[in-house]
This record gives sequence, C-alpha cells and structure tokens, in this order.
Amino acid sequence: MSSLQYPSKLPNVKTTIFTTTGNLAREHKAIDLSQGFPNFEADSVLIDLVSKAMKQGHNQYAAMSGYFGLREIIASKIEKLHGRSYDPEKEITVTVGATQAIYTAVTAFVHAGDEVIVLKPCYDCYEPAIEVNGGTVVPIQLRKGDYKVDWEEFKKKITAKTRMVIINTPHNPSGRILSKEDMLQLQEILRPTNIILVSDEVYEHIVFDDAEHQSASRFDDLASRSFVCASFGKTFHVTGWKMGYCAAPAALMHEFRQVHQFAVFCVDHPVQRALAEYLKNSDRYLALNSFYQEKRDFFLNLLKDSRFRFTPSQGTYFQLVDYTAITNEGDENLSKRLIIDHKLASIAISSFNANNRDDKVLRFCFAKKNETLEKAAEILCAL
Ligand code: PMP
Ligand code: GLN
Repeated sequence: MSSLQYPSKLPNVKTTIFTTTGNLAREHKAIDLSQGFPNFEADSVLIDLVSKAMKQGHNQYAAMSGYFGLREIIASKIEKLHGRSYDPEKEITVTVGATQAIYTAVTAFVHAGDEVIVLKPCYDCYEPAIEVNGGTVVPIQLRKGDYKVDWEEFKKKITAKTRMVIINTPHNPSGRILSKEDMLQLQEILRPTNIILVSDEVYEHIVFDDAEHQSASRFDDLASRSFVCASFGKTFHVTGWKMGYCAAPAALMHEFRQVHQFAVFCVDHPVQRALAEYLKNSDRYLALNSFYQEKRDFFLNLLKDSRFRFTPSQGTYFQLVDYTAITNEGDENLSKRLIIDHKLASIAISSFNANNRDDKVLRFCFAKKNETLEKAAEILCAL
C-alpha cells in the first residue's frame, strides 16, 4: 500500500461502463450485446495486407502524422463523399482510434476555465477529456425518444467562455442522426463565434434507410472550425486495432500535432500500410450501410413480438429499447439482472445522461452474428 499523497485529477470518474458491464458479462457467460464491437471476423484480405506490410519490412515508426499514402487516400475519400478538399500533408492526422483524436483535439484547445458543450447522452470519453484539461462540461440533455437538438436551447448555452462544442452523428447511444437542417442551424449559431467543433463521425458509414451522413466537412463554415474524427475500427470490424484519424484546417491541425507528436508520435505502421491499400476499393466501406441495415432489420424483426418498444435506429450499430411495458426498475438494475439471471448483456444508458437521468431504456449492439442476435432475441421475447 502506498502512503503517497496526491490530489486526483478526475476524482469523480468511475471505471467506464464498457469495462464494468463487459466484465460482468464474461463472469456470467452472458451473450454480450453491450460494448460496441462485432463478434464476426474482419475481411481476411485486410488481415493479409497487414501481414504483407510486416513481411515487407514496414515495422519501424511511421511518419508522425501518419503514413502519407494513407493520408492521401483518406483525403480523396473525404473529397469524393463530402466535396471538401483536405491537404494530406497538413490537414489529416492518423490517430490511435477516434478516442485519441478527440482527446488530443480537446487537449490542444481547451484551457482551464473554458466551457465545452456536449449533447447528452454522450459517449463516455468526452467529459473526462474536458475535465482533465481543466475545462468545464456544459451538458445539454436531449429528450428521450427522438433525441432532437433544440437549437434555441443550444444557443442559450453559449457564453464568452465556450471554447468548443462536441457533436456525434450518427449518435451513440441513441442511433439518431443529425439532419442537413441541424448542421445548417449549428453552422449559423457558431458562425459569429471562435468556437472549435469536434465532430465525432465514427459511424459515418453506418447510416440507414437511404439517409445521407451529414459530415461537418460538408459545410463551409463548420469545416473551417472542425476536427472531423473517424474510426477504422468501426468501419472495418477491427475495433481492437484502435486506428482512426481526423481532418481539420491546417492552422487547427498544427495545434493538434503540437500535442499529438508528444502523446503518441505516430501510430501502428504496418496497419496503416494495409489500410491504405484496402481503402482503394470504396465498396469496402460503402457497402457497410446495407450490411448493418440488414442486421438492424433482422434484430428488430425478431423483437417485434416482444414487450420492448423502439424506434428503429437511423445509424450506428446500436438500438435503444424502452422497457417500461415490462418493468419499472432502474436501467442499471435491469441491465445487471439481465446479465446475471438471463445471461444477456446490454448497456444502461443513464450513465451517459445528464445527472444520470434514467429514461428506462437499454442499448443493444447488433454488430453480431445472426445466430447471436437470435439467441439474444429469444431471451428478450420471453421477458
Ligand atoms: N466515438 C464514439 C461515438 C464511439 O462509439 C466510439 C467507440 N468506439 C469512439 C468514439 C471511439 O472510437 P475508437 O475505438 O476508434 O477509439
Ligand atoms: N464505442 C463502444 C461502445 O459504445 C465502446 C468502446 C469502449 O469500450 N470504450 O460500446
């Protein structure tokens, strides 16, 4: 036992729900629809490309901002999809997943006393990143159901201290997407300000029912102030590789790299080589919408005779379900009970809401083999 005395930088942060729920799921051998990761394999072509890159000797440090060939193909992908041209030399950086991109952007810009607006419920890495840098989180709670942003309310939260806004579309955990109108409203609100936007777009290729992903990079004024953050883990079924990137105008990216170079210097080199090759075929990411739409529909069709209520997810590989027709207990309690008594793991989303508001909904990840979804649905339909 250490007798050292020191003040914690994050005294109120608990172990992430993904770790605690995942551990409980493993302990009870539950079917795991909690943490967001696929339980099927990635394309063997991609795996072979990594081993090829290793055998070809790409085993030493990559360039600090990422292997240039990968940055080039990322830039051309963004230009094709969203019509924005980023300079791969100065405006794209490859990161250790989107998590590091978000953390680094926050660290590079948020000073002690700055305010950062987040839309709740939100992914759990945003707030600790703000707080560890001395910033103040300004939460805006979205309403249960449609999780729409009230832009008038949003506007009122902006003060002289607002340094940054973090948005996420498609949105984890709600599965809602921001529309073009939402992005235009956000653009008008931010236009007269100096606010930096972090746009978390890790589910950019998982959008359903012919909707289009409205990247911040599509909108001139938003793009001029944004870090657009993405994750290869989500797109290519390799969450364990922790590979992501972000795009931002050169001046902003310069500040980002001031931090990035000393936090990680560079990320896994052979994987970057492999991804650069793999990305040459755009079907590999463009087919993801329909791939996951089928999974969503398969899962929801199995749940249609259950007592859960839901609005189909518009994007991401998550589905929220309202369980109030079954029980009135709190979501954390139900989530635990489902794991221990019924051997099925989900995520209770109260921990992502402002003041842990309990909307009595659970989140299920449908990035799973159909047989896993069938087994899970059988349990859920019996409740
Ligand atoms: N943002 C959101 C909304 C996420 O769901 C995740 C989950 N992985 C991340 C960021 C982090 O992405 P990565 O695993 O690439 O760090
Ligand atoms: N993004 C994943 C999710 O929402 C989890 C990633 C993590 O465990 N940090 O489930």
